[in-house]
Amino acid sequence: MTTEEWDALKEEVLRMARGHWEGTLAALAPQLQPALDRVGRHVPCPVHGGKDGFRVFKDVGETGGSVCNTCGFYADGIATLMWANGWRYSTALRAVADHLRVGVHSAQPVCKMARPVVSTNGDDDRLRLSLNRVWSESLPMSDRDAEPARLYLARRGISIPPPEALRFHPALAYYGGEKRIGEFPAILGLVSGVHGEAVTIHRIYLTADGHKAPVASPKKLMAYPKDRKIVGGAIRLDDTKSPLMLVAEGLETSLAVMEGTGLSVWCAINAVMLASFVPPDWVKRVLIFADKDRPTEQHPKGHGQEAAKDLVQRLWAMGIQASAIVPGGEILQGEKSLDWLDILRRDGKAGFPKLSAIDRRVIRSAA
Ligand SMILES: [Zn+2]
Repeated sequence: MTTEEWDALKEEVLRMARGHWEGTLAALAPQLQPALDRVGRHVPCPVHGGKDGFRVFKDVGETGGSVCNTCGFYADGIATLMWANGWRYSTALRAVADHLRVGVHSAQPVCKMARPVVSTNGDDDRLRLSLNRVWSESLPMSDRDAEPARLYLARRGISIPPPEALRFHPALAYYGGEKRIGEFPAILGLVSGVHGEAVTIHRIYLTADGHKAPVASPKKLMAYPKDRKIVGGAIRLDDTKSPLMLVAEGLETSLAVMEGTGLSVWCAINAVMLASFVPPDWVKRVLIFADKDRPTEQHPKGHGQEAAKDLVQRLWAMGIQASAIVPGGEILQGEKSLDWLDILRRDGKAGFPKLSAIDRRVIRSAA
């Protein structure tokens, strides 16, 4: 396809899509459905998770635009699809064209098109600076001043020394929307992308005496520049390049699995990111220590269980042995889930499966 043909297709697709973005986004990125059901209202982000950072624009039908407080601003439907599905511009455009049956006469694939250069703007520079600043202000978890972090982890029932991959910030600003609420001590975790590149920082805001800070969202991801991709990423709690990888959702749960198994564990942060996790190329087997979540309307089998199952299936399709292990026992009354930290607190290390038992499970699930 020549540049002229490509430009013509682009123009035609965007013209055709105008007014049809709701259906187009729903068809090509079903994970956006909860947001499309509540146009203009905040819902959990389909890419990074969280509580309510994401919304589609009120005029989403016209523009296809959306915004996540953490991931970024997507002015139109193509940008929304590129972000939500981790697509290139050409892939997104082709998918929309196919969906709307635009340019069906042109049989040539567009996948050879070069990826447009992502222009950096002032916003991205500002985000890059603030990520670098926060990280450079942080201290090792073993620092004398990092007592709030050590107290917090001890209170949660974790007794292994925190891995060096985690850092401590003595006084990190907390914002509710645009408003600065205050400064709190915080545990920091560097979130790496699929290829190990730094993407953003995960924060757990604390009080000086080691409780969660009294704020709306004590666990948050920092906003990051548009040219960085969080999809598939994780907090790499360990840098051993073992062919066996353990992965869990939350930071505390991941540390509990590390303590319970004595093996290296990566933290996928939440169910949404766990489902999209991509292990590095040295990994041959993945064991997912899943959260057992109560069923909800949106997740009839429990969000944690569904995310783990999605990941298992995708990893097998990638040629990686994978299995998920859900904690045994009932979810306690008044609790929304049972996770491996609960198991560590309830049963200690004895509550964790032995590696030989895990092996048998892997073989069984492969059969
Ligand atoms: Zn997001």
